[in-house]
Amino acid sequence: MSTSFIAMGVALFLVLNLVIGLGVLSLFFGAFETLFGKPKLTLLRSTKGGNFFAFGFKWNAAKEPAALDNVRIRLYNPFGSPTQVDLAKPFEPKKSSFAAELDMGPGFKELLGAREFDFALVEVEIYSKKDGVNFIFDMKGPKFKKLLSEANLTIDQYLEKNRFNENKASKPPIDIPIRSFIADTVPGKGPQLKMATNPMFAGEFTSAPANAGGTPAQGGNTVPNFKVAKVWIEPGCIVCNACEDIYKEVFEVLADTCIIRPNAPLDDGLRIQEAAEACPVEVIKYTQAS
Ligand code: SF4
Repeated sequence: MSTSFIAMGVALFLVLNLVIGLGVLSLFFGAFETLFGKPKLTLLRSTKGGNFFAFGFKWNAAKEPAALDNVRIRLYNPFGSPTQVDLAKPFEPKKSSFAAELDMGPGFKELLGAREFDFALVEVEIYSKKDGVNFIFDMKGPKFKKLLSEANLTIDQYLEKNRFNENKASKPPIDIPIRSFIADTVPGKGPQLKMATNPMFAGEFTSAPANAGGTPAQGGNTVPNFKVAKVWIEPGCIVCNACEDIYKEVFEVLADTCIIRPNAPLDDGLRIQEAAEACPVEVIKYTQAS
């Protein structure tokens, strides 16, 4: 009896610990999200003049995907004059954190020069017209002016500091492994392994019978070579290197595509054909010379 009470007590203790642990973890991640995951607007120093509004904006684009393309600044000034100013400006859609410097027109100076600005409220809204997503930042007039006057980073400095730019963001984080389409020699004998399509390798297959591609001297049927009039790469290369491994005098694989080398030799059509057949996405095209 007492043993089962002890066992129940231990189980209860463990369950309580688990619940408390989960609670602490969720509070921790909640606080983390609140502190570091919130959208952040930073006012920047304009390098262009009084009508320009420069700002940087960071948000979690994976969590709230949108192409942000507008900024709006509103002044609510019930005790002063003008009582309201509403400025909006579109910009190139941005799908990840960015910075912009926009000409808000003469209204921006009017907004900053409003009477009783200290009692006004400023609202900065960054939004996407197309996606219906918006981020609103409210602040009192004096705070807005203080942030503007204390802004010491230009757009370039802000981008450098935050280490993001649109080019980096648009690069897909894909690592394409280096692959070879030339198989290792399979040990053992067997006509099923003999395929002499290219005369350059025909000597390798001299022992093969005719039906497996051996040379004519061995009863094989070597395919005659041909010249190529033109070889080119269509869009869609996945930079797997197969073509360059087969015929590096013709194909050159760059960082994001493959090209045909200038003055590439076009007299070994079988080898070009071999590369085209090895291309996993079939983007190597050629025409045979007549
Ligand atoms: S052209 Fe084809 S074979 Fe050559 S690297 Fe691109 S995908 Fe690979």
